[in-house]
Amino acid sequence: MASLPGANPAWGIVLRADMDALPIHEANDFTHASCAHGIMHACGHDGHTVMLLGAARILMGMPQLPGSVHFVFQPGEEGGAGARKMIDDGLFEQYPTEAVFGMHNWPGLPAGHFGLRVGPIMAAGSRFRITVTGKGAHAAQPHLGLDPIPLACSMVLHCQTIAARHKDPVDPAVISVCMIHAGDTDNVIPDSAELRGTIRTLSSELQQKLQRDIRQMCEGLAAAHGAQAEVTFFQYYPATINTRAETALCEAVIRETFGDERTHADVPANMTSEDFGFMLEERPGTYVLIGNANAGTTAQSLHNPKYDFNDDIIPAGVQYWITLAQHYFRTRQQKSVSGA
Ligand SMILES: [Zn+2]
Ligand SMILES: [Zn+2]
Repeated sequence: MASLPGANPAWGIVLRADMDALPIHEANDFTHASCAHGIMHACGHDGHTVMLLGAARILMGMPQLPGSVHFVFQPGEEGGAGARKMIDDGLFEQYPTEAVFGMHNWPGLPAGHFGLRVGPIMAAGSRFRITVTGKGAHAAQPHLGLDPIPLACSMVLHCQTIAARHKDPVDPAVISVCMIHAGDTDNVIPDSAELRGTIRTLSSELQQKLQRDIRQMCEGLAAAHGAQAEVTFFQYYPATINTRAETALCEAVIRETFGDERTHADVPANMTSEDFGFMLEERPGTYVLIGNANAGTTAQSLHNPKYDFNDDIIPAGVQYWITLAQHYFRTRQQKSVSGA
């Protein structure tokens, strides 16, 4: 956390970079590969930190801006909800903030190009655990028990039906059952089975509805067979929703600085999740994507053990942050003079 004070302390913006790595063993063998066993920067957050540090260094040597720029170096994006914790610790009270801005490198876009959209750009996510309890028995005497395995399997299939038939087809959602565990050997019907998975949606409303429907479906299926289902949801991140005015400002900055060819307005939303969504629940702002793929190549995807942050995009990322801060406060001053 660092702050560059502006002329008017009531005006402030947050520029945010996440910093954390992932528990992945790096499969690259170049000299800058991770030397920490089992930990690597597979999401490029080290690159995000470098770009924001570069912008801070340059802005500090420039004439004072009309408002303050708060440089947020945020831990715990990869599942730790670090953004939520910083907000709960008083981020916006200690550093008065009118708008928040984030950026993520994106292997699906050419290097140095930018993508953004008004509305949701990343999904709301939750995780679930379903424990199906029947009654254990000898594998050859199923009639003396209550086999939870066929029941758990039918719950997996019904989750796919919920994703396909319980919502408007143009409103995206993913329900993935990613773990299924039951039994320890081949001649015993186990007492219970456990399923785990995740739900991603572009709105909190649909997220809540799908959770309700999964609970109702699984509890109902279990009851129909005389078994029990315990369904537990763990809230992950809200959707990352870009506000209209701030996104228009970012688009203008990108278009003027990098040209129309490198500006991808209205990119499709992604079903990945991002804890910057917590900041956007509290303040207006915009999360943009910066392309990572060199011309004619496909960059390794995020979270892949062969991922490599493309250092060539650092100057563009630094330039974006600087121009955005300048442009934001220039527009802010005009609004203030016109009394808007
Ligand atoms: Zn990540
Ligand atoms: Zn990331």
